This record gives sequence, structure tokens and C-alpha cells, in this order.
Amino acid sequence: STMVTDAASAVTDFWSEWMRTIGATERIFELIGEQEEIAPPVAALALQGNVAFRDVVFAYPERPDKLALRGISFTIAAGEKIALVGASGAGKSTIASMLLGFYEAQQGSIGFDGTVLTPANASAMRDNIAIVEQEPSLFSGSIYENIAFAVSEREASLEEVMAAARLANAHDFIQAFPQGYETIVGERGVQLSGGQKQRVAIARALLRNPRILILDEATSALDSASEVQVQNALDKLMAGRTTIIIAHRYSTIVKADRILVLEQGRIAQQGSHRELMQDTAGLYHYLMENQLAQYKTISEAHAEAA
Ligand code: ADP
Ligand code: MG
Repeated sequence: STMVTDAASAVTDFWSEWMRTIGATERIFELIGEQEEIAPPVAALALQGNVAFRDVVFAYPERPDKLALRGISFTIAAGEKIALVGASGAGKSTIASMLLGFYEAQQGSIGFDGTVLTPANASAMRDNIAIVEQEPSLFSGSIYENIAFAVSEREASLEEVMAAARLANAHDFIQAFPQGYETIVGERGVQLSGGQKQRVAIARALLRNPRILILDEATSALDSASEVQVQNALDKLMAGRTTIIIAHRYSTIVKADRILVLEQGRIAQQGSHRELMQDTAGLYHYLMENQLAQYKTISEAHAEAA
């Protein structure tokens, strides 16, 4: 029975960590009827948004023999936008997880504004970060609750939620439901399209007002009208914030201030799109000419047809 309890609490810990990251708060526990003891909040640590990875070496606990990151070093200045590009399995998502303090590096360090990330301050650091995922997870509840969830320390007013939804290009479709912001989404309510879910997630992130933003860019085929609205909302969300984009779209990659090209847990190349394309024997050129060029062709053909 001890084992069952440990397993259950491990699941609860993971869930709680995950929900915080995507903008959730302890309110989730009320919503799902969980009796969770809430630790008093660590004093707020307001970051400017400077990020530094210093020679980070990491293997997942389940795979200690295989290094996912083999000495990653880079810095991002506050407000800078970088794109992480590379083949599947190269380590892009692992870098995002490390930044969020979900794992400890075997070697090296991660710093925010010069403060080293530790298990003790990870949660306070994470309060400055929002992540918008490829397939955002909404919980079963109202649209208002799903957006208001972004802030833990207080109750967000309907006006604030609506302002965030307007910026996220979500207000119009929300208002079109008979119940408006009280519309229940998820299994017991309406099913939102992929583009609508993303705009709700963007509204949530805007309300959270993070210094650091992680975007796991969708390649999933949004229809072109939805894609334009999502991209426009993302542009507003990114403005003035340190942004790390796990990028697949040509249109996003070329907009980044700097591109890090990952190959098997190492940074193979970095630079602007123009600089990287000049190395015609390099990995970036190869990636652009192959998989990414295919996507570019499809999305451009789509845009022309529209
Ligand atoms: P990418 O996001 O670039 O596709 P990942 O960061 O997900 O790559 O993966 C990097 C490496 O780590 C891969 O070899 C992958 O198989 C491994 N990996 C990813 N997640 C886990 C995990 N939770 N446990 C063990 N190995 C993992
Ligand atoms: Mg990934």
C-alpha cells in the first residue's frame, strides 16, 4: 500500500508541476476535488529574462547510458527571440524541460539573470515562464476558468480575461457561443478546434505576463484562416519577451534573432537564417532544403490558394 501511495503522490507531483507550467495554479485541485496541501509561495523572483546554459550535460534518469544533451552552451539576452531547430530526437524539448527545472543537469548549469537554477528556486523561476504547447491542454471547465488559471495569487476579473482573449484573437469566437465565457469546454462541453484551443492557451499566457516564453510550434495543419489568427496572436505574445521557439515553420524560423541548430544533443550551428544558409554544406542548409522546404512549399501553396 506504501507503493501505491508513493505512485499516486508521484503522479500528483508531476501533474501539479505540469499544470503550473502551462499557466495553471493550485486552483486545479479545487476543480478536480483534490485535497492538496499548498506550500506557501516562495518570495516572487521577478526576472528580466536573461538565460544562460553553461556546458549542460544531461541524461534522462530512465536512460542513464544515453546523453540527451552533450554539453550545451548558449546565452539569450532579455527580450531576444531564438529558434531551436533540428531533427526529431536532437534535444529541443529536453532543453525546454531543463529550462523549466524539471530535471537536474549531470554537469554544467542553467542561469536566469545570473542566478543558478536549483531545485529550491525552480518553482519561483518557473513563475516567470509560460509555455504554449503544440497541442494545448485545456481542462474541463469554463473558458473563463481556463484562461483565469494563468494567475495563481489572485482571482482574475472577467474584464482582464476578456482583454487577454481579445489580444489573443479568441474573444469573437468565445462570444459567439450562447454561454460566452461560461461555455464549458472538454469532455462535458464543447470541443474547440486546434486553432481555437491555441488561442485560449495564448490568452492564458498573456494574462500570466511572463518574462520568458517557450513556444512549441505546431506543425499540425491549422486551416489558413486559423493559422493567420494564431500567428498574429503569437506575435503579440512574443513582443518584448525572451522567447524560445521550437520551430518548424519557415516563417517563424526566419523571424528569430538567432537560430540554434541541434544535432544529437549538441549545438551544431548557430546564427541568423541568412548566415546559416551561406554554409551550403551545413546541417541547417540541409534541413531547410529537405523537410522544412517541403513544409514551406505546402504552406505557401495554401496561402496562394486562399
Ligand atoms: P526533440 O524535441 O528534438 O525531438 P527530445 O529532446 O525530445 O528531442 O529528445 C532528445 C533525446 O532524449 C532523444 O534521444 C529522446 O529519445 C530522449 N528522450 C526524450 N524524452 C525522454 C524521456 N522522458 N525519457 C528518456 N529519454 C527521453
Ligand atoms: Mg520535441
